[in-house]
Amino acid sequence: MSQALDILSNRFGYQSFRFQQQEIIETLISGQDALVLMPTGGGKSVCYQIPAIARKGVGIVISPLIALMQDQVDALEQNGVKATFLNSTQTNAQQQQVRQQLIDSTIDLLYVAPERAMTEDFLQLLGQCEIALFAIDEAHCVSQWGHDFRRDYQNLYRLHDLFPEVPRIALTATADQRTRFEIEQQLNLQQARKFVHSFDRPNIFYQISEGQNNRQRLWNFISRKHAQDSGIVYCLSRKQVESTADWLVSKGRTALPYHAGLDKQIRADNQRQFLQQENVIIVATIAFGMGIDKPDVRFVAHLNLPKNIESYYQETGRAGRDGQPANAWLAYGLQDIITLRQMSQDSDASESHKRNLHHKLEAMLGLCEQTRCRRQTILNYFDEAMDKPCGHCDNCVSPPQTWDATEASRMALSCVYRTGQRFGVNYLIDVLLGKVHSRISQNGHDRVSTFGIGTSLSSAEWHSIYRQLIALGYIRSDAESHGAIQLTSHCKALLKGDETLLLRKVAEKAEAEKTAHGKTSKSRVRIADQPLFDALREQRRLLAEKQGVPPFVILHDKTLQELSLHRPTSAAQLQTISGIGARKLELYGSEILDIIARFPLDQTLDNNLTNTVNETLQLFLQNNRPEQIAELRELSINTIYNHLSAAIELDLVKLEDVIPLNKSETEQLIYAIELAQGEEVFRMKNVYESLQEKYDYSILNCVKASMGVD
Ligand SMILES: [Zn+2]
Repeated sequence: MSQALDILSNRFGYQSFRFQQQEIIETLISGQDALVLMPTGGGKSVCYQIPAIARKGVGIVISPLIALMQDQVDALEQNGVKATFLNSTQTNAQQQQVRQQLIDSTIDLLYVAPERAMTEDFLQLLGQCEIALFAIDEAHCVSQWGHDFRRDYQNLYRLHDLFPEVPRIALTATADQRTRFEIEQQLNLQQARKFVHSFDRPNIFYQISEGQNNRQRLWNFISRKHAQDSGIVYCLSRKQVESTADWLVSKGRTALPYHAGLDKQIRADNQRQFLQQENVIIVATIAFGMGIDKPDVRFVAHLNLPKNIESYYQETGRAGRDGQPANAWLAYGLQDIITLRQMSQDSDASESHKRNLHHKLEAMLGLCEQTRCRRQTILNYFDEAMDKPCGHCDNCVSPPQTWDATEASRMALSCVYRTGQRFGVNYLIDVLLGKVHSRISQNGHDRVSTFGIGTSLSSAEWHSIYRQLIALGYIRSDAESHGAIQLTSHCKALLKGDETLLLRKVAEKAEAEKTAHGKTSKSRVRIADQPLFDALREQRRLLAEKQGVPPFVILHDKTLQELSLHRPTSAAQLQTISGIGARKLELYGSEILDIIARFPLDQTLDNNLTNTVNETLQLFLQNNRPEQIAELRELSINTIYNHLSAAIELDLVKLEDVIPLNKSETEQLIYAIELAQGEEVFRMKNVYESLQEKYDYSILNCVKASMGVD
């Protein structure tokens, strides 16, 4: 096995395999077939790239997206792997050259789309070459039920008939059982070894909330957590895509729209800009995503409810492919539920298909409305058990409050009944709140028993109640009669008083939210390392620009972070950083070492103090006064003095540099503290009073810290 590990370490710059990569690679090297189900970000491509390098001949990679081939080949070349592609973007001469490389066996990997792979011409060409393996990427495209269906994928079974000796690997990130079964059947992979990886994405923080004013809440989330990051915002309609993108631009962000109605060239340009730059937000319908392999997408936000958990999982899965912390943020409202319910009822599909759509939507609503761990629910849905709550989703971090809504729900249901099951939610709430307007009085609903009985709750609270009652199936919105709310048989027990009902409380104020570690992208790097990190990032940008590739093809964020933290000073040390193999060492090693040398870490910051103390210390060393630091960090001046007193205690800074006292004053304070220390119990209060309350406690604490351990 050392051969595979050798390739991993020398070519790709990683010291060990993750998950089942090693077993998968061994399976292929030994000539057996493999079926690999692994979530995005699990490291799928290495599973066929390494065996293709290790085995004789060229590895043929069937990939559905021509747009991605260039990036994949660029990334391999950065690692010194000989790879190329064959597709319609090349001239005849270029294609001829690739054909010759194939025959001469001078490349390790060839990327090709399924449509081309299955032409007689290409199959004949393959007959003249030595083939290391066939890798069928995005294998779920074989499924005619999925929205990524590609007819030519269904012919790929022929590869095995024509080249029975060549091992095959089919890979997908889809988590749906039926699709797995279809891949096996259609590609004749019943005999293949199966590798099913956990579909958990531990680095993603899930957060789902309901309520109004989604756009403002989105902005609060983005500006606070992702002020400089790349992200995707999904919307339901093209119109909403356009207006949301414009709105984000007006807020000062680079935000680009993407939907099927845009000109093809604009779409391609926007996608490219998103890939190549580091702080672009793409606002898109679900048309966007399949062609995206950007590892450093830091957040995926939904402004509408996805229609099922599969879509939610797939779309949020585009965040954090590099394994670094990422956020999945979803906000939805009553109208989302009504729209999706109606869509699932209205479609022309068969009854069984409709039922299927309906069940999937119910599961999605269940995920939104329930109070237990989100991750457990998602994994459960994909038949994967998780024994404990994850501790890394909104429900785990701040468990939702519930309240006994039995009485209020009865009022809400009874209001539906009293007004004849002919009205929408807004009208019902007006009746409950006793609002007098012409429609209500014309209908005589100011005389029904539920008129004005709901004034103890706000309109937002009634919205929340109706939304949850719909989600829980007590009432439904009828498409035939323009969304009128109607009772279902499910509500009988509740109305009769045989059932109590706990509902989620309306979310408190704006965003009392906790999300993936840290406030902004910056906090992923220690403050002391930030200047170095920024310099490395700038260098990466220049290199990427010069070579016309996205920055992550040069080096991943994770690699930059490790470089900033460990600050290697030699080629040998550089090689211990993940993502730096022999080729990248040769290409960029000396440049990286130069930059690191230009940003030496202040020795003072190499200590055991906490990050927050070091952050204060760093600012202090940059000649900021304690008052300025307090303002910069939005902390109290006392906190800043406390931080500095910790540094004084370790002799990292001098007392006289911190506090504005002359020598004799300082001596007076030391004397007062010593006196108090002589007493049975030391009380700073006594010192404070003995000095006529002239010096703040924070100053006294600093002086005491300078006196060392007593
Ligand atoms: Zn959780």
